[in-house]
Amino acid sequence: QSQEFSQAHIDYHGALLTLQEHGTRMVCTGKMHTDRICRFDYLCYCTEAEEFVFFHSNASVMLPNLGPRRFQPALLDLSSVEDHNTQYFNFLELPAAALKFMPKPVFVPDVTLILNRFNPDNLMHIFHDDLLPIYYTMQQYSDLDDEARLVFMEGWSEGAHFDLYRLLSSKQPLLKEQLKTFGKLMCFTKSYVGLSKMTTWYQYGFVQPQGPKANILISGNEIRQFASFLMERLNITQEEGDDYIVVFKRTTNRLILNEAELLLALAQEFQMRTVTVSLEEQSFDSIIQIISSATMLVSMHGAQMITSMFLPRGAAVVELFPYAINPEQYTPYKTLASLPGMDLQYVAWRNTIEENTVTYPDRPWDQGGIVHLEKEEQEHILASKEVPRHLCCRNPEWLFRIYQDTTVDIASFLDVLRETLKKPNLKKIKVASTVHPGRVREPKCQTSVQATNEAKLSVSWQIPWNLKYLKVKEVKYEVWIQEQGENTYMPYILPHQNYTFSENIKPFTTYLVWVRCIFNKNLLGPFADVLTCKT
Ligand code: UDP
Repeated sequence: QSQEFSQAHIDYHGALLTLQEHGTRMVCTGKMHTDRICRFDYLCYCTEAEEFVFFHSNASVMLPNLGPRRFQPALLDLSSVEDHNTQYFNFLELPAAALKFMPKPVFVPDVTLILNRFNPDNLMHIFHDDLLPIYYTMQQYSDLDDEARLVFMEGWSEGAHFDLYRLLSSKQPLLKEQLKTFGKLMCFTKSYVGLSKMTTWYQYGFVQPQGPKANILISGNEIRQFASFLMERLNITQEEGDDYIVVFKRTTNRLILNEAELLLALAQEFQMRTVTVSLEEQSFDSIIQIISSATMLVSMHGAQMITSMFLPRGAAVVELFPYAINPEQYTPYKTLASLPGMDLQYVAWRNTIEENTVTYPDRPWDQGGIVHLEKEEQEHILASKEVPRHLCCRNPEWLFRIYQDTTVDIASFLDVLRETLKKPNLKKIKVASTVHPGRVREPKCQTSVQATNEAKLSVSWQIPWNLKYLKVKEVKYEVWIQEQGENTYMPYILPHQNYTFSENIKPFTTYLVWVRCIFNKNLLGPFADVLTCKT
């Protein structure tokens, strides 16, 4: 592909005039830099200064107009990782009149999405931080279509899986480094800057130890739709056939030392064929092909496990952890498998036998070596039986332990599988409905007083409007009754559309009553307007 945007195909003179007269226009969404995406007309980038430029004119727009708060700490996050101080976006300002003294701009005619990839050498980060957020940011803005141009500003080279980024649009993505080849001043006719964080489920431990995000907003449905999109682009179709187990191995570190024994045990236990894959030995496409029809995926903890999103519904994910690593503290893949609608079974196994681990104290620090540390710290790490909670990213005890090789103790491994996995027909799973009930309609209450210490409260309602169009296995109603002025309430689950309460109901008292519908035990509807009922 030519390293040029043909300026002949656009009305160059017209574009330059518009830029000079109107300057840059920006309108953003989001209240905070962490939830902001900005849309620009004529955002420019100076490749020498490595700065984006906003040109002011009488017609330019800057919303939000934050004044100096734009630098506290930034206008927005360029990556999907929240508030990371290496991922901030801002621009310089210049009067449009300055254009007269600047190099002739090169206009980018495509609608462009400008962002930072977070760690394009790691498959987990590629999917979680980049591909999913890019895909769903593009879904949010209809002009970010298949013709959109992606521009990666983090400054890295392509990385090991650049082909995956190429699948997101028909145009070649551009790297920061390449922008220089276009000229000194580039102006993006229409662009979006920033990424949606709506799809991310994990935080890596920059401010508190790693774990699932506090407010997860994505379900298995969106993950699976994204996975289907990629598979379609890769020409992969799910195949019907015999059941088989995939062992996803690593070949350079964090090894399974008794792989053959593990494969044999799995084959015998489940009476299934087993296959191994590794990123070093197969193409990514062929691995996805294999995983997309597998019954079970077994792997050491590691980025390759992000491919579990391609497993069919009902399949099992088995994650192995080296000695002294507590699986509960490292759960990106458990969280993924457990998202509602992913419909995957998840099991963790950890090595608890110290003789079965192989350590590498002599390696460089980033592969878990510890010989560069003080003697005392080395001894402390070697004596420890579990890595304590820690922050990202350079905790030597964590790196030392996570890069161990492991001989899997087959007996304890099979034990956890037997305890946790539902065996029959892993693949044949019904997709659960996610349709929530509407409000119950026409809620009413009637009261009567029987005696000075005896009263009745009858509550009735009509079914939610959407129920008549649905086949629901189990419809129940929940009623909350609160005596006015009290701060507790009594909850009741009821099978019918009316009920008369007499226990705990006092005469000459005001009760507040809420009613809602529940489908299949866990799909809760909204409460109807509160009823005020006086006995
Ligand atoms: N990787 C691999 N085989 C190996 C070691 C690493 O394919 O033997 C891949 C791994 O899947 C990830 C990248 O190399 O995409 C970086 O691995 P690292 O150990 O740094 O990260 P982790 O897997 O712990 O997230």
